[in-house]
Amino acid sequence: MVKVTAKKTLIFSVPLALLAAAFFMLPKLAELTPAHRELLLISPYLSAMIGMFLSVHFHRGRPFTALLLISILYFLSRTHLSEGIIGFDHQGLYLGLSLLLPFNFALLAAMREKGVFSVAGRLRLGFILIQTASVWLLFRHYFEELLPLLTRKLFPFAVLDRLLLPQPLLLLASLFILLIASLTVKRQLPIESGLLGALTAVVITLSKITSPDIPPLFCFAAGLIITLSILQDSYNMAFRDDLTGMPSRRALNENLHGLGRRYAVAMLDVDHFKRFNDTYGHDVGDQVLKMVAKKMMSVGGNGKAFRYGGEEFTVLFPGKRSADALPHLEELRRAIEGYSLAIRNDDRPRDAKQGEGKRGSKSGLTEVSVTISIGVAESGERQGGPAEVMKAADKALYRAKSKGRNQVCS
Ligand code: GH3
Ligand code: MG
Ligand code: MG
Repeated sequence: MVKVTAKKTLIFSVPLALLAAAFFMLPKLAELTPAHRELLLISPYLSAMIGMFLSVHFHRGRPFTALLLISILYFLSRTHLSEGIIGFDHQGLYLGLSLLLPFNFALLAAMREKGVFSVAGRLRLGFILIQTASVWLLFRHYFEELLPLLTRKLFPFAVLDRLLLPQPLLLLASLFILLIASLTVKRQLPIESGLLGALTAVVITLSKITSPDIPPLFCFAAGLIITLSILQDSYNMAFRDDLTGMPSRRALNENLHGLGRRYAVAMLDVDHFKRFNDTYGHDVGDQVLKMVAKKMMSVGGNGKAFRYGGEEFTVLFPGKRSADALPHLEELRRAIEGYSLAIRNDDRPRDAKQGEGKRGSKSGLTEVSVTISIGVAESGERQGGPAEVMKAADKALYRAKSKGRNQVCS
């Protein structure tokens, strides 16, 4: 089960703000001049094109596919569905879209990123075509049997009658939206959050597809949400460490410029990590680094943690002296020492030697743990800038190592 905290819901802020802006704009669209209206009508294609261009540039197949689907929805809404949904062809098209779009957005959110024109990317497009063909065949042969099922009234709410989307399909779409929302909270990644916002906009479009304003406005919003999520994702790629999700060395370098006159810097290094990797394997090593990073990111004293590289980390304490940072670092050291990770015994390489970590074998699980050494220094040391202070912290770290590890030195 995913634990939802206020901080974790921040990831929703961009799509929410854009959807709110779209609702705010909606009543004002009646006053648009004909020229602006023309612009509104092509805006979904423009936002999708910009987003698809960025997707190709950053090798992001999931947003690319989502933008393609949004463009197709918008195109069909203009060419086939704007006059009303009457007759087998239009009804089939509308129900098919309402069935397939939410499902595929959820699928995209659940999937791993595999690029745009890679084999996986082309397979994905192929899969969407197969689904479309299957639904088309199904509707062609069994439409009369399926129609009452798809359009059944489940709840006696008058508001729902005002939406074009039949209740079973609305329910299904809501379930897919919830699924993507929980994935987003869990993974904290912008593309997932973008897919969530875009699917919401798509469902709003579907619910009022015959309105002259809703499809262009909300397909534009959907395209914009996805496009922004690509930008946010590529920003994260540059400034966030992939394994731990914490700010990277590049982010550290940026932060060093903004430090005031007084600050403390701590350098942290996992003890005997090479041996740990040799004993339990690189994958377990990665899991441990993630755990260590998580603890570091919640260090007290307003400390900001970065992955310096490998199993080395840096914590900046703006406005603090070494003495102020020490108790928080000591607390961090103890938290990591006291934390153990349960791994399955078969996760371990078979020829493993006895390792550094503690072990207690029960029910096929082994408990592993690591310790860290920390060196801390403060501004003013050697009258130098942040680079000098970091060097001093590194020296202190070296002292902590040579004094026996698992300790903090200043
Ligand atoms: P010391 O206590 O002196 O720090 O010993 P150490 O073995 O930790 O020191 P050293 O710097 O020689 O080894 C660092 C090891 O960390 C080497 C490498 O295998 C491991 N390492 C670096 N980055 C990663 C990573 O991303 N994942 C994993 N699993 N291991 C990593
Ligand atoms: Mg090291
Ligand atoms: Mg080390």
